Parts: sequence; C-alpha cells; structure tokens
Amino acid sequence: MKKQTPILTDSFGREHTYLRISLIERCNLRCTYCMPEEGVQLSPRSHLMTYEEIYTIAKLFVDHGVTKIRLTGGEPLIRKDIPIILEKLASLPVELTMTTNAVIIDQFVEVFKQYGISSLNVSLDSLDPAKFKEVTRRDEFERVYRNILLLVKEGFIVKINAVLMKGFNENEIVDFIELTKDLPVSVRFIEFMPFDGNKWDMKKMVSYAEVMQEVENAFPAESIVRLQDAPNDTSKNYKIQSYQGSFAVISSVTNPFCDSCNRLRLTANGRLKNCLFSSSESDLLSKLRKGEPIEPIIQKAVAAKFAVRGGMDTLEKLKRPDLHSQNRSMIRIGG
Ligand code: SAM
Ligand code: SF4
Repeated sequence: MKKQTPILTDSFGREHTYLRISLIERCNLRCTYCMPEEGVQLSPRSHLMTYEEIYTIAKLFVDHGVTKIRLTGGEPLIRKDIPIILEKLASLPVELTMTTNAVIIDQFVEVFKQYGISSLNVSLDSLDPAKFKEVTRRDEFERVYRNILLLVKEGFIVKINAVLMKGFNENEIVDFIELTKDLPVSVRFIEFMPFDGNKWDMKKMVSYAEVMQEVENAFPAESIVRLQDAPNDTSKNYKIQSYQGSFAVISSVTNPFCDSCNRLRLTANGRLKNCLFSSSESDLLSKLRKGEPIEPIIQKAVAAKFAVRGGMDTLEKLKRPDLHSQNRSMIRIGG
C-alpha cells in the first residue's frame, strides 16, 4: 500500500485518502434540497476542468496517498467526455466509484465494467412516482427505478441515497427498508443538510434518532441487526435479519463523523474544499494553468481543515443561515 505523505494529513492527524471530484455543475434533475428553483449561477465552461486537468490533479493526489476517488456533480453522467474521464482515472491505482441519479445509467453499464467500476451510489428519495417528480422537478421515476434493478442484475454493488424530509418522505422509511427484503442494496437515509439556497430548516430534517424510532416501531427488536461500519464510514449500518440488503443512516447534522474524516472535495471548476461544510476554497486550477506547483496550496488547505463541519461545530452554528449560505449550493459542491 502507498505510504501517505504529509501534505494530505491535517493538524488533527487525519489522513485524507478519499477524493471526491465533481465533474459538472449541471444536472438533468432539479432536486429541491440540492439547488434553488431558479437554478444556480454556472461557472463559464472555460473555467471547468478539462479531462486532462482532472487526470493531472487526481494523479497528484494519488501520488500523495489517495486510494479512493468518487465522481459526482451535478450529474456526472451528463458530461459528454465521461467515458474518457473514466478511462484516464481507471489507469490510476485507486478504487473508482460514482454518485449518480441513474437517469441515463443504462447507457454506461458496459463502460463501467470495462473500467472496473463495481460499486455505485444512486439517489432515490421516494418510491412514489408523484413524490419523486415533486422533489426532483422531473418525471423520471420509472427510468431511475428500472436502472437500479438493472444495476443489481448486472452485479453492481448499489447504495441508494435517500434524503429524508419531514412531511415529505419520512413515512417511506419502512417501505425503503422493505425494498431490501428481496433486493441486495443498501438504502442510506441522509439527514437533510443546509446549503446555499435550499431553504433548510432544522424542523424539516429527520434525525438518526427519529429514523431508528420508526424502525423500532415497525420491526421486532431481535430482527434489527447493527452491522459493523467500515473504517471512515459516514453511515451507521443495520439490516433486518434475513433480508438480502441493508440500511444505514448518514447523520451529518445530529451525529457528525468528523473525527474519522478522510475526505477532500474538488469542485468542477478546480477548487479544493477541505470539508463539505467549508465556506473557503483553494483554487488549484488557476495555478495549474499558470504552470505553478499546486502541492503547497493543497497542503495549506488540508492543514487549515476545521475539527468539525467546516467550523460549524455546534447545532446552533449550523442553524445560522449567515454561516451556511456562505457555502455553495450542493449541486456546485458535489455531494
Ligand atoms: N446527481 C448525483 C446524485 O444526485 O446522486 C450526484 C450529485 S448529488 C449533489 C450527491 C448527493 O448529495 C446525492 O445523494 C444527494 O441526495 C445529496 N444531497 C444533495 N443535497 C443534499 C442536502 N441538502 N442534504 C443531504 N444530502 C444532499
Ligand atoms: Fe441533480 Fe443530484 Fe442535485 Fe438531484 S441531488 S439536483 S440529481 S445533482
């Protein structure tokens, strides 16, 4: 295994081995919790990383100890040069994976197999087509659901991400878990998080504790099995005895997992974010284009990482709109 070199170790001793790269700021859905209805101000195309630049920056991170890269967005699959990006990144000694809304994923099954991508995270917030349309502002439930079944049939490891919101889909927790009875997928319930323009309100969020209460009301205690979480896992994993799949909760709001954080994020316009919640960014792409070394900027950005949620270490701070509105919309960070 490659030795971690100090530039990716922060002042709390956390080693960063996982890089999430956003490929695009655009999307073929319009999820209400991710982007404002009026859309977001997009970076000019020339400000976005080309596939060569993505490869150059990714390779540098891999040389310094990154072992896992997740591609995200916006919707990564709508980038026209996605096959070549996958080909280039697959040549690096990393686990390569993706988070996608799966609307057009059926066109990429063979490409994924060719480049060794075996695990995918797919977003699906409701099992009800009308509610899916309400939250994504697009009528694509059937395609997404069919594509999830296709991925499973083709042998991919599939994790389904569902952002829970009160009065919207918290009544579907049990339905989602029932999906895992015959389908070997992991459903991950995500606490609704605040970002610029997503009208976040703590009252809309369904917490880890509330999810587990719902599970305990619906299933006998002895059938709820707590699974071992993987190292650096952001989710608390469970399964219902004898069900093929599992479920988990990602509790960034009520139970942050910052102690073991190993993640860094690169935005589509080449800025490094040392935390999902951080309002500061470091411009790697401009330096790279000027032919200047980017390692010193990376090192400085990693060293400056806060202990907890980009400095919003209490729920009181997280609730303050003036703090989280300094951050980008999720669609421009890359979740
Ligand atoms: N378009 C792809 C997708 O939806 O899977 C990838 C990008 S999307 C920004 C990545 C993940 O971020 C999705 O699973 C989405 O549900 C999650 N996400 C977006 N906004 C969020 C929010 N406000 N709170 C929690 N999760 C959020
Ligand atoms: Fe698009 Fe994903 Fe954001 Fe939904 S969550 S708008 S699918 S980027």
